Amino acid sequence: MTTEEVLNLFEENQALLKGHFLLSSGLHSSRYLQCALVLQHPPVAETLCAALATKAKADVTVGQIDLVIAPALGGVIVAHEVARALGVRALFTERQEKVMTLRRGFQIQPGERCFVVEDVVTTGGSTREVMEVVAAHGGVTVGAGSLIDRSGGAVDLGVPRHALATLEVPTFKPEDCPMCREGSTAVKPGSRQ
Ligand code: ZN
Repeated sequence: MTTEEVLNLFEENQALLKGHFLLSSGLHSSRYLQCALVLQHPPVAETLCAALATKAKADVTVGQIDLVIAPALGGVIVAHEVARALGVRALFTERQEKVMTLRRGFQIQPGERCFVVEDVVTTGGSTREVMEVVAAHGGVTVGAGSLIDRSGGAVDLGVPRHALATLEVPTFKPEDCPMCREGSTAVKPGSRQ
C-alpha cells in the first residue's frame, strides 16, 4: 500500500481530520488522528495490518517473527491483525499501577523473536516500554511497527522500524498557534463545529 492509499483510508473513515484542534495535551494542531475510527471496520483493519506484516516480512534485518506484541489499548487490534497475517501469536501488555506488564497468563519463551506494534508512534515511549517487558521475559525485539508514524521518522528505537505512513504533525502552544492568530478557535476533536 502506498502512503497515499493509507492516508485516504484514514480520511474516508474520519480517522484523520484537518482543521484547528485542541488536543488533550492542551496543544493546538491542524491535524487530528484517531486510529480507532479506521480500525472499527474489521476488513479495513485486516488490510492495513496485512500491509504492515508484509513490510516486516520483507525486511531481512527483522528476520523470523515468533509473536506480535502491543501495548493495550490502542495496539491490541493492530497486534491481532498483524499476527493473523504472519500466522503467529498476538499478545498485549497493559499498565498495572503505571508500570507496563505482561498479565493474563501470556508467556514469552526465552529467545522468542517479538515484533512490537502500535497504532501510532508519536514519541515511541509505549513501544519502548513493551520492548522492556519483552527483554525482562527473555524475548528479543526484532523490530517495531505502527500504522502511522507521526514523529516524521524521528523516533529511533534501536531496532528496524516500519510504518505504513509517516506524518509530520506540528503542534503549537495556544499562544504560538498560527491558526489562533488568524482568528479561528480550536475545537476538541469529535465535537461539532
Ligand atoms: Zn490554535
